[in-house]
Formats: sequence, structure tokens, C-alpha cells
Amino acid sequence: MSGAEKSIELVLRRLKKRYPDEMHTSLNHSNPWELLVATILSAQTTDAQVDRVTPALFKKVPNPKSMAKLKPKQLYPYVKTLGLYRVKAKHLVGTAKILHEHFHDRVPNTIAELTMLPGVGRKTANVVISNAFNANEGIAIDTHCITVANRLFLYRTKDAKRIEERMTRVVPKSDWGNLTHLFIALGRDVCTARKKYCSNCVLKDICPSSDAK
Ligand code: SF4
Repeated sequence: MSGAEKSIELVLRRLKKRYPDEMHTSLNHSNPWELLVATILSAQTTDAQVDRVTPALFKKVPNPKSMAKLKPKQLYPYVKTLGLYRVKAKHLVGTAKILHEHFHDRVPNTIAELTMLPGVGRKTANVVISNAFNANEGIAIDTHCITVANRLFLYRTKDAKRIEERMTRVVPKSDWGNLTHLFIALGRDVCTARKKYCSNCVLKDICPSSDAK
């Protein structure tokens, strides 16, 4: 176990204090269906861009049943400003059909069921479970989390699944959901993939990769 892994309680305490408003997804949603749709749309797109298109989209398709009736093309006008919008529209309609036909129009709350849906991988499933159901089955790992975990915990891998496995062994389960968003906040703020700004980081004295000790 690395030094920073042993200090995980301290890491969490400092990050929560530094980023108190970042312990949940910034994607606008008011129910699990909306969060699932927004998270599928957020692949390789900023949350802000997704939030600009979802109000009209949620009005048009407020539940799986309403989206299951559509052809992917009918969603294009709502999502065309987002990257990969054709693929995402196909995934959304495919997901809606499965939810309508097999889940009584409800969004499931397990990784096994969620990852059966098109466009839904472990990361999306973990985001939905944590933010829509207030539960934790794993840790959602995005590119920011990969960067931060490699520097802070001295992992030497970009494999999200392996990083998730290692982090679930050291992070208290009650903080699995928080950790994703705290690492994203840190990764956007000072521990960016391109450059690290250690002198402004609240972990600079305990991070083994810090150049500002
Ligand atoms: S001290 Fe530097 S390398 Fe470590 S987490 Fe902070 S910004 Fe990243």
C-alpha cells in the first residue's frame, strides 16, 4: 500500500474541505432515467454541453416508453451539438427499448443490469448507482481519476477496471461515490493530465508525486 493510500482518510478530508460542492455529478437531472440519458450523452463531451441539450430532450422523452417509440434519427435535432451524436442516439433508443420491454420502464440499480444496456459501461453504471440511487457498488473511474490515482497512489496503469479494484480496497465504501467527483474536481483544478500545479494542491505534502514539498 502506498503512503497516500494509507492516508486515504486524510486525503478525503482535505478534498471534501477544498471541493465541498463537488461530491455529486454536475449533470442536471431529476430522476434516474434523466441521469442515465445524460450520462450516456456525456461520453467525450463536457457536462456543460450535455446540460445545454437535456432540458428540451427530457421534455420530448420524459421516460423510456416515450423514447422507445422513436427512431434514433428523431433524436438528432436534440443531440446534434454533441460529439458522436449518431451513436449516442442509437444507444439511447436501444437502452429505452430494453428498459421498456424488460424493466417496466424503470432504471435498474446494479452494475450487472446497467451494463447490459447499450452505451453503458462500468463508469456510467457507477455514476448512475451512486448519484441516482445513493448507493455504491463500485467507483466510477474517468480520465481525471486515472491521472490523479496514478500520481497520488503511484499506480502504473491506465486500466480503469484495475484502478477501480485497487481503490475499492483502500477507500471506505461510503466514500466511493464521493471519491469519483472529488478526483474529477482535483484533476480539473490542479492535477491536470497536461500539467500538475502541486504548489496549489491541498495534497502537496502527502502526495508522492508532488514537486512542491
Ligand atoms: S500534489 Fe501534484 S501530483 Fe499530487 S495530486 Fe496534487 S497536483 Fe497531483
